[in-house]
Amino acid sequence: MNIEKKVQVLPESPGVYLLKDPKGTIIYIGKAKGIRNRVRSYFQRADERDIKTRTLISKIADVDYLVTESEKEALILENNLIKKYKPRYNIKIKDDKNYPCLRLTIKEFFPRLMIVRRIKKDSSLYFGPFPSALAVRNTLKLIYKLFPLRSCKDAKFNNRTRPCINYQMGRCVAPCVGKVDAHTYEEIVKEVRLFLEGKDHELIRILRGKMKEKSDRLDFEGAARIRDQIQSIEKVIEKQHIVSKGFLDQDVIGFHRNGGIGVQTLFVRNGMLMGGRFFSLSHQNWPDEEIISSFINQFYGEGKFIPQEILLPFSIQDHELIEQWLTERKGNRVTLMVPKRGDRLHLVRMAMDNAENGLLSKTRLDTDPENILRELREKLRLNRFPRRIEAFDISDIKGGFAVGSMVVFEGGEPLKSRYRHFRIRSSLGADDYGKMYEILTRRYQRTFQGGALPDLLMVDGGKGQMNVALGVLKELGIDGVDVIGLAKDRVQKGHAQTLERKGERIFLPKRKEPISLRKTSPALHLLQHIRDESHRFAITYHRKLKHKGDFHSLLDEIPGIGRERKKQLLRHYKSVDKIGEASMEELESIPKMNRKAAQQLFSFFHRTA
Ligand code: SF4
Repeated sequence: MNIEKKVQVLPESPGVYLLKDPKGTIIYIGKAKGIRNRVRSYFQRADERDIKTRTLISKIADVDYLVTESEKEALILENNLIKKYKPRYNIKIKDDKNYPCLRLTIKEFFPRLMIVRRIKKDSSLYFGPFPSALAVRNTLKLIYKLFPLRSCKDAKFNNRTRPCINYQMGRCVAPCVGKVDAHTYEEIVKEVRLFLEGKDHELIRILRGKMKEKSDRLDFEGAARIRDQIQSIEKVIEKQHIVSKGFLDQDVIGFHRNGGIGVQTLFVRNGMLMGGRFFSLSHQNWPDEEIISSFINQFYGEGKFIPQEILLPFSIQDHELIEQWLTERKGNRVTLMVPKRGDRLHLVRMAMDNAENGLLSKTRLDTDPENILRELREKLRLNRFPRRIEAFDISDIKGGFAVGSMVVFEGGEPLKSRYRHFRIRSSLGADDYGKMYEILTRRYQRTFQGGALPDLLMVDGGKGQMNVALGVLKELGIDGVDVIGLAKDRVQKGHAQTLERKGERIFLPKRKEPISLRKTSPALHLLQHIRDESHRFAITYHRKLKHKGDFHSLLDEIPGIGRERKKQLLRHYKSVDKIGEASMEELESIPKMNRKAAQQLFSFFHRTA
């Protein structure tokens, strides 16, 4: 059944649809209130869509679907299927790790705090998420400094006969050996909880009360300890900057599109900005509101902290549906809102600015030559920083002649004044390795006259070419130059046995298998740029030679083609290439030619081509 027919019989119910390419690979997964209408909409006004969507549409060969009870169920299913199949045309958050949180085990007899990365629906209290592991560790350290909460794990706690050093240091009240009763320990846990919830005023009020009580009982030492604790807590509070007066937990999302897409999340906990995270999404031409909708879907996956409010820069697709889904997941009301004024708007603007800056920094990092070269050195484990790179390419020309090219890049930029051409002098028919050997030897012999050496030598080709380069350097006694081979990966395709070029393989000395860099790697882009530049340079040289007529001498090497015949042939065909393409009959028909000469000429080209 062709795709149009298949679309006609899709169900009208809510569900998830899976678009597939001719090989049956899932290339896009979407959810819809009505599957048929949604899928049909792709094919309507297809020519008005952006390039990426048009490409997607042109690749759809089949469609599958899963009907769900409701749209919400479809949303959850879509999310799970995207995670499973990672379709090429869906938005992907590259960094979807769970942020660290603090878990307070309040149902334990003597609760403790621990760092976790997943929030479970258990009886514990969770605080966070914190923007980094360092941030959560620092908070935990601070808590142990401010409150005498136990820091040991259960195994240690249950097997103590004497308190540990924390007790001696006044950092723990040693519930492990019964130095404190459950009620007093509970009060400590309550204070920790108030601190983590940002309820500082209440906490200070309670501590002041305790201090007074101690001093009334003439326990001045105890009162002084609480006074110091209050002062330390006040110092911590002073440093925290309140950004939202509602003392709410909010996530703020900022969005910026400029070539790529930057999404910035800010985490506000109890009205305080705790940090944020920047995400760079590959360039997607889906509408902004669809991108943010997909982002939220993936970001608040299983085990993630869901705040009371999510502030957005603009309204998104499936606003109510996502709100409902998050509310259900959290077990409390979650609101998605696009603020128009006040603190909330200020926060969204802050997130937007951060998204823009994040994207800018990423672009700068990706395009900074020093960074790219550093990445290249790291990824290829080069001995030297590849400040000067020389790349070699051989270009074969119909008729048996070949030229070689050398391009030079310094600091990641082409140094055109140092480019060099080589007209291969080896005998006709020499193989690629022989040609490479010749140009490399000619180039590096010059270093004995004081020429500069590269940090990295790159040859166009695989292991064979790379070994030739290594051999030449060894023969010439040149040490310390890194050598690599860059070759296009070739895979067989279909029954037609046609070869399709795919990816790049990088050959390194002493490594059996070539390595690959990710397609988006700036270091790989630099290597490709250098290789393309050497191709371009070789071809330009070829054209120049052809224009000058230098290749006419090729005819001189063919027995039976003397001066007169050569003149006639060139007059008629204008170039050696054209002569090489002519049939034997055509060659024979040229003035001064005969059958024998035509035969020799024809077999010469067809032997060497
Ligand atoms: S004193 Fe006891 S309860 Fe406190 S940290 Fe040490 S072992 Fe754990």
